[in-house]
Amino acid sequence: MPDCIIVGGGAIGLLTARQLFLQGVDVLLLEKGVLGGESSWAGGGIVSPLYPWRYDDSVNILAERSKKIYPELCKTLFEETGSDCELINSGLFTVVGDNDQPEILAWAKKWSIDASFVDDADAIHAIEKSVGDVVDKGIWMPDILQVRNPKLVNALKASFDYLSIPYLEHTAVDEIIVENGKVSGVRTKQKTFFADKIIIASGAWSAQFSVTQASVNVLPVKGQMIMYKGAPDLLKRIVLSEGHYVIPRKDGRILAGSTLEKIGFDKSTSSVALDELHQAAVELVPLLADLPVERQWAGLRPGTEKGIPYICQHDDVEGLFIHAGHFRNGIVLGAASAELMADMILQRRPWCDAVPYSMTAAH
Ligand SMILES: Cc1cc2nc3c(=O)[nH]c(=O)nc-3n(C[C@H](O)[C@H](O)[C@H](O)COP(=O)(O)OP(=O)(O)OC[C@H]3O[C@@H](n4cnc5c(N)ncnc54)[C@H](O)[C@@H]3O)c2cc1C
Repeated sequence: MPDCIIVGGGAIGLLTARQLFLQGVDVLLLEKGVLGGESSWAGGGIVSPLYPWRYDDSVNILAERSKKIYPELCKTLFEETGSDCELINSGLFTVVGDNDQPEILAWAKKWSIDASFVDDADAIHAIEKSVGDVVDKGIWMPDILQVRNPKLVNALKASFDYLSIPYLEHTAVDEIIVENGKVSGVRTKQKTFFADKIIIASGAWSAQFSVTQASVNVLPVKGQMIMYKGAPDLLKRIVLSEGHYVIPRKDGRILAGSTLEKIGFDKSTSSVALDELHQAAVELVPLLADLPVERQWAGLRPGTEKGIPYICQHDDVEGLFIHAGHFRNGIVLGAASAELMADMILQRRPWCDAVPYSMTAAH
């Protein structure tokens, strides 16, 4: 019998299970589909929240810690598996108005983030030569990383095989078994698995269990994305304006995202979204008008009202933990968030104040 069962094999479940396993916990990860096949695959992989100054400190604390973890994590994954997560420093240019400048620079100072306001056309083109006229002023953060998230989840999966971390794909958990206020296992169609500790890391589906329905406010928020087939170095920087962004990958592909749609568990793509994303991307980077759109897809983010994840034990069920609701930031928050979850499972002093991520905090 494992010590701990993790329900869900997205970035959050994978990072958590790996972290626990490396610290001697006997884990079993159960995934209803394939590892990393949902939101964690579909995202953009920016290792920063978009507009981070708009978030609560509890989100920024996790983001700042993760930024320090990723270089070492990706290096270790490469050494273990030969899989390159394509962690690169693209920097992030965010179009903002003059009035926002003081607040943003004060935020950057507080978090020791290199950020400057740039409104000179030559200086902007020195940062990124391919931007259009709409990019006329904004905040330049040169140290923002991106990871190619499908490659990150593949590398994590490969590390599970390399380290022999137990997991089962195509194994949906139908029920969390609770007896006398204490968790004792999970039921799947194939089998019942027993453990004293269960972590729900089921992304957008985290409120599906009867024990979480009333108490876990995580809802699916669809994000559609398109990808252009470009050439390396056509675009070098991540550029963001009014919620739309472009992300250059190492091989020249360029992602443009993303929509925010609260319409339930629907992963269909639409031509309306394609037009919206394409139009916004061409405004940001005019050369995209001439590149073919190679692919369009959608993923379901685990949405919470303020983007603050649940990283906590269930208030009413001993041994049941929730690790979900990372919304738009599951990659950037995930590495640090997994460390905090591991602290809780191992009953260690948490590396940061865990109260903001509890069930009773305002989610
Ligand atoms: C378009 C888009 C762009 C994004 N861009 C970024 C970005 O640039 N940076 C960033 O940090 N974040 C980004 N995100 C958000 C990020 O992708 C998510 O926050 C993150 O992937 C959440 O990880 P997760 O493991 O909680 O969820 P998921 O990856 O969805 O994993 C949950 C897993 O649980 C499984 N599961 C569900 N129910 C069960 C069950 N009953 N039994 C077993 N398994 C179950 C699912 O099959 C799934 O594999 C983006 C998301 C989208 C959609």
